[in-house]
Amino acid sequence: MSNEQQIKTFVIVGGGTAGWISAAILSRALLNLPCKIRLIESPHVPTIGVGEATIPSIVDMLEYLKIPLAEFILKTNATFKLGIKFCDWHKLGSHYWHPFGHVGNKIEGKPFYQHWLKNKLNGGTSEFTDFSPAIALAKQNRFFIPDPQNPTNLSASTYALHFDATLVAEFLSQYCQNNSVEHIKGHVQNVVLDTQGNISQLTLENGALVDGDFFIDCSGQQSLLLGKALRIGYENWQHYLPVNKAVAAQSKVMRPLPSFTSSFAHEHGWRWQIPLQNRTGNGYVYCDQYCSDQQAQDLLAKNVGDFITEPRIISFTTGKRHKMWHKNCLAVGLSSGFLEPLESTSIYLIMKAMLNFVQTIPSKKLHQAPIDEFNRKMDHEYECIRDFIVLHYSETKRTDSPFWQMWQNLAIPDSLETKLDLFRSQGQLFHDTDDLFATDSWYSVLEGMGVRPNEYDPLIDASDYSKIQQALVSSQIALDQSAAKALEHMAYIKKIKF
Ligand SMILES: Cc1cc2nc3c(=O)[nH]c(=O)nc-3n(C[C@H](O)[C@H](O)[C@H](O)COP(=O)(O)OP(=O)(O)OC[C@H]3O[C@@H](n4cnc5c(N)ncnc54)[C@H](O)[C@@H]3O)c2cc1C
Repeated sequence: MSNEQQIKTFVIVGGGTAGWISAAILSRALLNLPCKIRLIESPHVPTIGVGEATIPSIVDMLEYLKIPLAEFILKTNATFKLGIKFCDWHKLGSHYWHPFGHVGNKIEGKPFYQHWLKNKLNGGTSEFTDFSPAIALAKQNRFFIPDPQNPTNLSASTYALHFDATLVAEFLSQYCQNNSVEHIKGHVQNVVLDTQGNISQLTLENGALVDGDFFIDCSGQQSLLLGKALRIGYENWQHYLPVNKAVAAQSKVMRPLPSFTSSFAHEHGWRWQIPLQNRTGNGYVYCDQYCSDQQAQDLLAKNVGDFITEPRIISFTTGKRHKMWHKNCLAVGLSSGFLEPLESTSIYLIMKAMLNFVQTIPSKKLHQAPIDEFNRKMDHEYECIRDFIVLHYSETKRTDSPFWQMWQNLAIPDSLETKLDLFRSQGQLFHDTDDLFATDSWYSVLEGMGVRPNEYDPLIDASDYSKIQQALVSSQIALDQSAAKALEHMAYIKKIKF
């Protein structure tokens, strides 16, 4: 490719989590290349500011950006997250865990789940996630990062972070400016298209013109470039996931400091609790067909106690753009779509979009095949996550309010229906290798929501059952004992600061 065809200027619109992550990944990928990156941030439109829980790929992103973990934790008030505790989702009074990392180890080449299932169907009392190293630590509010040089029975735990979204935007903004990203404070008023339908220029409120070869739309829910200017429509998934509002507020710090996110199912939706070093993030996600904003706010206050910030109401529509890349414009973050934060996947989708994009950095010619492939991959990511989230609701036994009764009759995606049928009938989990959630995640949530096959895999009978029973008992005890020796979560954070 000659230099003439290389994209020289990328313009990012938006200075929220999506804008700064996009700029950081792009600036890292294009380091030492003769490309300019400009990020425009409106002084009038605030960021959404609530994305504070992540999944383990956040740690991979920090490594990709060569950002030291300890510095990031210190500057963003971050804490560690080993999984999610779901309370009252299956039935009132029940709870289950979705752990990060592996659960148990394969036995004689067969999935641990099948051995555990045989034991359970024969009257065993252990829970599947009792064999998760991450949950052994989380139950005791403890944490440690496994040392690959020094393997232990906790080595299979992996972790993510909770952080302050505003501090993350500030941190990444500094990182980007060190990588020569130009930060323009200005409000985009008009988007100019050329005769081919590509974006050629943006007009700012102060009259300034910003040119670029490629535009990344991180303008939030309004989708200023892809949605409004290029008219790419929105696929609404509210018929699968009807919650459409959230009220968010912060409360004081929790001690002891949990090393997990909590998700509590309530009358009209669910409530998140995200523990940071200096405060706690809270929110109630609900469906406005069943609950007024005031009722939601009252429920949050009743369960959280005193707020230290004013509660904020946020509306959203679950779904995604028909395509995320069109012509010379890519939408990332809320401008590309939104799935409720039940499994903390939005920031992951931002990273994934940008990491896919930098593998395909286009020339000015913009060949259609890589664009189509990018869109196919991102659609699939969204669909897999959607199905996993729907599973948390669709299998509930709760009927104590109109919101939960609604789930008894709600249609689920065909892809999820097929997966559930196969699992129920033969205990097989059809695993799609492109699905973000690995089989242990599916097993944990299926079991947590009461979906258990009636039969285990008959091949398991080739293993000595009494030995397996003993191994299950001893490994569970050993896991809890090892976890008890780890540092308490806050003590661990204090230690890594120095
Ligand atoms: C209730 C709720 C809870 C969530 N929790 C989580 C979570 O726990 N984990 C997770 O991964 N994700 C979560 N998310 C999603 C997460 O908050 C977002 O994906 C993330 O913050 C990215 O937002 P954004 O940058 O796309 O948009 P925004 O934060 O809305 O930023 C938009 C940016 O565009 C700029 N802008 C807008 N218009 C213009 C204009 N005309 N000119 C110039 N600039 C403009 C604004 O100034 C702003 O800087 C949650 C979302 C919601 C709604």
